[in-house]
Amino acid sequence: MEITHASPIKAAVLGAAGRMGQCIIESIAAAKGIALTAAVERPGHPLLGSRIVAKGDGQGKEIIITDDAQRVFSAIDVVIDFTSVESSLSYAPLIAAAGKAAVIGTTGFSSAQSEELREHLRGARWVFAPNMSIGVNLMFKLAGLAARILSQDFDVEIIEAHHRMKQDAPSGTALRLAHIIAESLGRDLDDAGVYGRKGLVGARTLQEIGIHAIRGGDIVGDHTVLFAGPGERFEIIHRAHSRDTFARGAVKAATWVVHQPPSMYTMQDVLGI
Ligand code: NAD
Repeated sequence: MEITHASPIKAAVLGAAGRMGQCIIESIAAAKGIALTAAVERPGHPLLGSRIVAKGDGQGKEIIITDDAQRVFSAIDVVIDFTSVESSLSYAPLIAAAGKAAVIGTTGFSSAQSEELREHLRGARWVFAPNMSIGVNLMFKLAGLAARILSQDFDVEIIEAHHRMKQDAPSGTALRLAHIIAESLGRDLDDAGVYGRKGLVGARTLQEIGIHAIRGGDIVGDHTVLFAGPGERFEIIHRAHSRDTFARGAVKAATWVVHQPPSMYTMQDVLGI
């Protein structure tokens, strides 16, 4: 059954003081049909108790940054979580128990942790995506297509670059690209993935999918998929100029997912790609 919202969708932002959290709060202020209703930070964060005055559809409402997620979950429609793996895993059962929709943008989950997250949120309506930008989601589609067409004749390497503070490597987006390409080529990423190279590694095998992470400065997020073949190479490149692209995607996903039947969705579902 579709939920209809005459009043704005009430959103809780987890990791409200983080780089992405702050951008998401700005994006909610600029969006229609959604209002910032709660802002959550980790226990002990220096900004706990600070006041945010909501803009846009939440105009004028005072939000106090809190660490009491359980209490705020009862008063909202959708949770937007860009925090850390441990934090997202600890919030997931609370989100499910409260029957709320969720958008989870946190990256860095191992396969087992990703499975644990899915288990917690079974029965919920939620979007799980390592990258919420439209360009990267188009890139996912094109990378799968290119791998199918170029097939076994081209060596595949994935190169990503991010700011110096990024915690996980390679990026969730690079891993997603690698999974998509491995699937298109009928390879198992556990066998084919080569994460950086050093020393006398010998000639590259045809099966390899190389994955390389660069960290420095304030790079928001660059991804290149390189297909190198006989006499030519083909590259798909995406560069994010600002976090706004991810934040806008997250807010779009939040307003979309509350109207969907319970299931896990990707950003490609949200964007209809
Ligand atoms: P950040 O370190 O700037 O922000 C994370 C925030 O989460 C911090 O303010 C931290 O205090 C808070 N936090 C930690 N534990 C918490 C808890 N238990 N409860 C509430 N808040 C808690 O990091 P960031 O650059 O904003 O990135 C956050 C996550 O989002 C990372 O995993 C990053 O890779 C991911 N990310 C995803 C996308 C995407 O499009 N999906 C885009 C950018 C970043």
